[in-house]
Amino acid sequence: MPDNKGILRQLRSPLVFVVVLAGLWALQSRVLREEPRARIVPYSELLALAQGGKVAEAEFRSERILATLKSEAPGGKTELVTVERLPNIEDPTLLAALRASGTRLTGKAESQSNFWPILLSALPLLLLPLLFLGGGILGRGRRGGPLTFGKSNAKLYDLGPENRITFSDVAGIDEAKAELVEVVSFLKEPAKYRKVGARIPKGVLLVGPPGTGKTLLAKAVAGESGVPFFAMSGSEFVEMFVGVGASRVRDMFLQAKGRAPCIIFIDELDAVGKTRAGAAGFASNEEREQTLNQLLVEMDGFDSGAGLVIMAATNRPEILDKALLRAGRFDRQVIVGRPDVRGREAILRVHVKQIVMGPDVDLPVMAQRTPGMVGADLANVVNEAALASVRRDGEQVTMRDFEEAVDRIQLGLKREGRVMTREEKRRVAIHETGHAVAALSVEHSDPVHRVTIIPRSIGALGATLQLPTEERYLMTEHELHDRICVLLAGRAGEDVVFGEVSTGAEDDLERATELARLMVTRFGMSSALGPVSSGRAAGRGSGGFFDMEGGREISAETARTVDLEIKSLIDTEYARAKALLSAKRHTIDRVSAALLEKETLDRAELAALVGPS
Ligand code: ADP
Ligand code: MG
Ligand code: ZN
Repeated sequence: MPDNKGILRQLRSPLVFVVVLAGLWALQSRVLREEPRARIVPYSELLALAQGGKVAEAEFRSERILATLKSEAPGGKTELVTVERLPNIEDPTLLAALRASGTRLTGKAESQSNFWPILLSALPLLLLPLLFLGGGILGRGRRGGPLTFGKSNAKLYDLGPENRITFSDVAGIDEAKAELVEVVSFLKEPAKYRKVGARIPKGVLLVGPPGTGKTLLAKAVAGESGVPFFAMSGSEFVEMFVGVGASRVRDMFLQAKGRAPCIIFIDELDAVGKTRAGAAGFASNEEREQTLNQLLVEMDGFDSGAGLVIMAATNRPEILDKALLRAGRFDRQVIVGRPDVRGREAILRVHVKQIVMGPDVDLPVMAQRTPGMVGADLANVVNEAALASVRRDGEQVTMRDFEEAVDRIQLGLKREGRVMTREEKRRVAIHETGHAVAALSVEHSDPVHRVTIIPRSIGALGATLQLPTEERYLMTEHELHDRICVLLAGRAGEDVVFGEVSTGAEDDLERATELARLMVTRFGMSSALGPVSSGRAAGRGSGGFFDMEGGREISAETARTVDLEIKSLIDTEYARAKALLSAKRHTIDRVSAALLEKETLDRAELAALVGPS
């Protein structure tokens, strides 16, 4: 429970700051309004301007003269210039010249010295450190400070063409890039889409591990389409005052709608979009829930033809509230995965443009030496290499510098467990080859698009993005058998090659078992049980004997039969996978060697290696 006094103090301090600051702001801007921006010119220049008849209006003050110049072109801008008055001298020539050209002359007494205006305009500056202190006390290192609460502190990037980020700055994640081309085309010409009534997704969710270039990609979409880009991090929405986050969301959408076509980008969406707590309604969650609800309301509330596209990024899709992923919200998901060797080389190429590189640097080799690294790591490698070359007073960044940089960064990654040993890599290659070869060998199987040994990192990613079989389409018994066989083939491959299995097959086993369980209990595909539905509870594997929907009980005996049937199904398919792979041992070796080298094989490469079956 938060303590009340703390909250009061926190509430008071930003309020006081805001009130004081608003007051100062108003005062200061009044003072400044009387002192419009004027170019300071030497006295002689003003005199020349006056003699040339270029001055439209002159205001004499105690210490300066403020002159409004006639505009060059008709209807053009007028310019304001100011000069210090010459001390103790009245210059008759200036006056005469001004009078001669019919200039409107005014005068104004400045009773006070400049002290007050200067102090007043400087005060906010003096208060700034205090404000930051206030912000520090207030909020978990929050960036906005108390000034901004209630207002969205979305950063608006509207970069000029020269420093725009484009797709050419993003490398190694070509599939993700390809998916976003349509969004760019929509932002460029929303009218074209509107005309035929095509609905572009409102929300695009970029999903992938940290540092793979999600933020970069979102900026590139904005850069390519040349539209403004409102960026905000999910964690910035969620404040300690209930309602603030929600009003920030509202404000951001309001701003963005005014600038459409444009992009709203919410980084770290999971900070707002976490699954809403069910029964546990703690105060701290209430704020986040309100913010999330507001986000949902806003997303539903605009017409996708308006030219507003919402992009968001997360590396934890599995914790997102399902409501966010529903149609009309973030209904398009783009996976931004770790780059493979070729991808890493491409990313290195993007970043070495910034440095002076020696002729001996071999980027393909560097790419091979950096497995597991993502774009951010590789950008770091290039920078570290450049630093290493400076350290040794070099003129160019050489291969040695790169080697040193990689060693340095890899040490850090080891601690994170992102680097695989050669042995581990080989095992993963065999495992994945097992799946792939089996998929190409069995009769009914989804085509294999790609095999990769790049760590997926987000364990639940596959599960999140894959629709459950039962809801997708009708599958025959044979198809289900084949599917289980392919799921088990990773483990079978390891078994065939190494004679033992690893822990890497856990997820496969779970999915195979779940499928088998559905076949037995729901699809009536078991000979022992016959075409009988044994109810949901058993299907869930919850251990309960109670059918939650029908309230029908399953006998302990039936439950046992179910388990036995599942086991027999799995055993049969595992044996089939193993036999199948043993017979194709040479294919496995060929594919896994290629996989080890290239890290990713696409459909065509795989087909060429496996040959006609
Ligand atoms: P994320 O948002 O996925 O965590 P970022 O987009 O913030 O990653 O990446 C951080 C930096 O790493 C980028 O600014 C860029 O310099 C570099 N980077 C990351 N991915 C790539 C990539 N695919 N191509 C080029 N540079 C990249
Ligand atoms: Mg990011
Ligand atoms: Zn597997």
